[in-house]
Amino acid sequence: MSTPTTRLAPSPTGALHLGNARTFMINWALARQQGQRVAMRIEDLDGPRVKTNADKLAIEDLRWLGIDWDTQPLYQRHDLTPYAQAFARLHAQRLIYPCSCTRSEVRAAQSAPHGDEHELRYPGTCRPSSDTTATHPPAMGVPGGQTDPAAWRVVVPDESIVFTDELQGPQTINVQQQVGDFVVATKDSLPAYQLAVVVDDARQGVTHVVRGDDLIRSTGRQLWLYRMLELGPIPQYLHLPLVLGEDGRRLAKRHGDTRLATYRQQGVDPTRVIGLLARWCGLLDHHAAMTADEFRRSFTLDKLPRQAVTFTRQDHAWLIGKP
Ligand code: GLU
Repeated sequence: MSTPTTRLAPSPTGALHLGNARTFMINWALARQQGQRVAMRIEDLDGPRVKTNADKLAIEDLRWLGIDWDTQPLYQRHDLTPYAQAFARLHAQRLIYPCSCTRSEVRAAQSAPHGDEHELRYPGTCRPSSDTTATHPPAMGVPGGQTDPAAWRVVVPDESIVFTDELQGPQTINVQQQVGDFVVATKDSLPAYQLAVVVDDARQGVTHVVRGDDLIRSTGRQLWLYRMLELGPIPQYLHLPLVLGEDGRRLAKRHGDTRLATYRQQGVDPTRVIGLLARWCGLLDHHAAMTADEFRRSFTLDKLPRQAVTFTRQDHAWLIGKP
């Protein structure tokens, strides 16, 4: 039996905001309550979007909140070999093909798909009618190594994948109907998010994944890759409702500066932030401070609202100590 393990997987594409903080806090509290190992992973494959020092800032923000972990941070870019091996394995099974469509969706494949925009279904334009193994895949991590740069897609069958989300119950996803053949390597010869996350969850021994429910759609793709790469056992998934701005959209820059680093620089005490997160988790019915330790002890999924929660002006005023 493998050690129960979860992971914290920040993307260093910007500073962590209050919505990220809530997800990480719940992930950590559940892990510590259940005696899981907590692995740290910096998801720095997101090419041009990665910002200098955002990894260090994310680590400082998490520590400031009182979150800890049990491994050295795994930086995806440090070694692309595990992704190349998985890619080669898909190739050997004749499951991938090059795609030269220049859709923005192909460019977006390096990031976890959090956007509000609906992902389009790829209609299979470049899917070959017969053997794909004649085309040699590029060496992973050698940008420009291809004479005719192409992204690589994986052939997905028209069948349903079933799993049970720990919070949201039974889910059925037909990946072919949902997004079609999806991208596993980008034109820059880097692993796409969907491939990288599966390879990493498997090699870090992850048994429990906790993340925002904007990624629940991705779980079908990830479970399918687990199966094709024979990487089992698969983790248990728990997808959390998101934190929204007052306009009903996913909390983001457009809602003002909700970065943890900004509150930290303004001298806001972390117990205020944790108290707000606790309120969003149904642990408090008013604004009050709370320590990480209190949060860890009192958090329970039973109290967690099943709907998205809203970050209000009053919440912000409370954080910065205004009446
Ligand atoms: N690194 C991703 C993010 O910060 C998380 C991906 C995942 O949990 O699967 O959005």
